[in-house]
Amino acid sequence: MLPTRLKAQTEGKLAKQICKVVLDHFEKQYSKELGDAWNKVRDILISPSCWQYAVLLNRFNYPFEMEKDLHLKGYHKLFEGSFPYSPKSMKCYLSRTPDRMPSERHQIGNLKKYYLLNAASLLPVLALEVQDGEKVLDLCAAPGGKSVALLQCAYPGYLHCNEYDNLRLRWLKQTLESFIPQPVINAIKVSALDGRDIGEAQPERFDKVLVDAPCSNDRSWLFSSDSQKAAHRIRQRRSLPILQMELLRSAIKALRPGGLLVYSTCTLSKAENQDVINEILNSHSNIIPMDLKGIARTCLQDFTFAPTDQECGLLVIPDEGKAWGPMYVAKLKKTWSIAKW
Ligand code: SAM
Repeated sequence: MLPTRLKAQTEGKLAKQICKVVLDHFEKQYSKELGDAWNKVRDILISPSCWQYAVLLNRFNYPFEMEKDLHLKGYHKLFEGSFPYSPKSMKCYLSRTPDRMPSERHQIGNLKKYYLLNAASLLPVLALEVQDGEKVLDLCAAPGGKSVALLQCAYPGYLHCNEYDNLRLRWLKQTLESFIPQPVINAIKVSALDGRDIGEAQPERFDKVLVDAPCSNDRSWLFSSDSQKAAHRIRQRRSLPILQMELLRSAIKALRPGGLLVYSTCTLSKAENQDVINEILNSHSNIIPMDLKGIARTCLQDFTFAPTDQECGLLVIPDEGKAWGPMYVAKLKKTWSIAKW
């Protein structure tokens, strides 16, 4: 392990430092949860030089020239033809090598042409299968990557993007302004509510709800610059499943019967992933799991999955040449409650 760790720390002046407190904590937890797979996952997570960046083209300012360049550079299109729900308007390119296109600057009056992202973050968006005209709630939306991706797939009749944190809300608004034209933005409601209250306030309003939950963000936590703050986060980590469950309960209330709910996190932690979803399934008779294994089979050449013992849950783990994830995705459906006589 040491050589990789040193490599990560000597990649140049700007190389990020790995936070030992977090690494030690993850080492204990994830070697138990992932077994031997953890060694490879860890080596990729601590080596930013191995990280990959997918390029999501913006349908609202389509970069035709760039598409040709991406082909020449060896990029290929993600999900082409294979994925059960893959709208033609959503075009995402990725390379098998750790190439990174330059980020575009935000210029007022100009929409950006592409968004750089972890390709695994498209899985929750696609699992939601949004159709034109549907009412969609993005419960935890900042900085807005999944809202932008969702709008590449369909034109919801009503899109509600919510973010509790005021600073991050500004970031969300800026993302929307950078990628989405004003007439489309006008049909989006942006709010700064506690997501836990939305279900009560807007019961059965939405066809689709995305809960991209606050979680232990494994990639960024590993590079925490303040080890005291990192230690504090680790202590607080145990309370995250409670918040995640409360957000899910609210999302279920906000969903109409027959509607779909997707839950996602960017952590490997079983307590925040499978355990949260199992608890929701055990406590809600009107929630049923939706199979995602079929989806996993169609994209094995681009993603590596760890076993989850769940039909409705997928865990993408970073692998060599497929440095995507961590990303957990679960898909649930709300059914009509059975009347009690
Ligand atoms: N979906 C976003 C994207 O793709 O860009 C990322 C969402 S991030 C994983 C989770 C977000 O949930 C954070 O921005 C956090 O501030 C927000 N959050 C935390 N607690 C919340 C709450 N009670 N209600 C709504 N959002 C909350």
